[in-house]
Amino acid sequence: MIIQKTREEIELMRESALVVSKTLGMLAKEVKPGVTTLYLDKLAEEFIREQNAIPGFLGLYDFPNTLCMSPNSQVVHGIPNKTALVEGDIISIDCGAIKNGFYGDHAYTFGVGEIAPETQKLLDVTKESLYVGIRELKVGNRVGDVGYAIQQFTEKHGYGVVRELVGHGLGKTMHEDPEMPNYGRRGRGKKFVEGMVVAIEPMTNMGTHKIRQHKDGWTITTLDGKPSAHFEHDVAIVNGKPELLSTFQYIYQALGIESDEESEFRA
Ligand code: MG
Ligand code: MG
Repeated sequence: MIIQKTREEIELMRESALVVSKTLGMLAKEVKPGVTTLYLDKLAEEFIREQNAIPGFLGLYDFPNTLCMSPNSQVVHGIPNKTALVEGDIISIDCGAIKNGFYGDHAYTFGVGEIAPETQKLLDVTKESLYVGIRELKVGNRVGDVGYAIQQFTEKHGYGVVRELVGHGLGKTMHEDPEMPNYGRRGRGKKFVEGMVVAIEPMTNMGTHKIRQHKDGWTITTLDGKPSAHFEHDVAIVNGKPELLSTFQYIYQALGIESDEESEFRA
C-alpha cells in the first residue's frame, strides 16, 4: 500500500533528506587516498547525531554501521573497514538518517583522486540516468515508466542495470511501497499518486548486470569484477510533479562543481 504524505509530512521529510545531503557534502571533502571507509563512517555518525538525527542504517536489519561503503566492483551494502582508499578508486556512499521520525536515504559515487575517463563516464551516465528516471515520476505515470526510462538510457551506453536491488517508497520506515526497479516496461506497475515519496537509486555496472552476494551476508559485487556506480535521491510528488527533497549541492559546493541539474525538480 502506498502511503501518501501530507504537505506537512513532506516538509519534515525534506529535513530528513537535508541531513543525509549535508552528511554526503561533509564527506565529499574527506574522500581521498589514504582514508579508510571506517574513518568516514565514524565522521558520518557524529555528524548525523550533531544534527539531532539518528543514523538510519545502523542496526537496520542488523547492519553494523552508519554508512554503506561500496568501493569499485562493490555495488551496494559494503561494510566500512580499515582498508585505505587509493588513487583511482571509486567509492559509493549510501547514507540513511532518521529525523522527526522520517527517513532520508541518499547515495553518491565519489572518485578518489584522479579516476580513469571510462570510470568517470560510468559515474556521469549513472547520475544522468537518475534524473531521466525522476522526470517520469509524475501523476499519470506508473512504476514501469521510471524503470523503463532508466534502463533504456543506461543500456544505450552498454552498461548493466542491476535487477536484484531496487528503489523504494520512503517514510516512517526505510522501505515502503512501491518497489522502484531501475528496469521495466512502459505503462506497467503501480500508479503514481500525489504526496508519495520515493527513493530512486540506479545501480549501474560497467559490464554485466549480474551480481553476487558475499559471505558476510551484505556486500554485493559485480559478477565480472568491473566497477559499479550508485546515485540516489529522495523525491516527492507535489502538484503532480517530481520535487527533489535531497540535494547534491553540498557535495558540489565542497568539490567546487557548478551544476544546475536539480533546478527542474525544484518548486
Ligand atoms: Mg540508500
Ligand atoms: Mg534506498
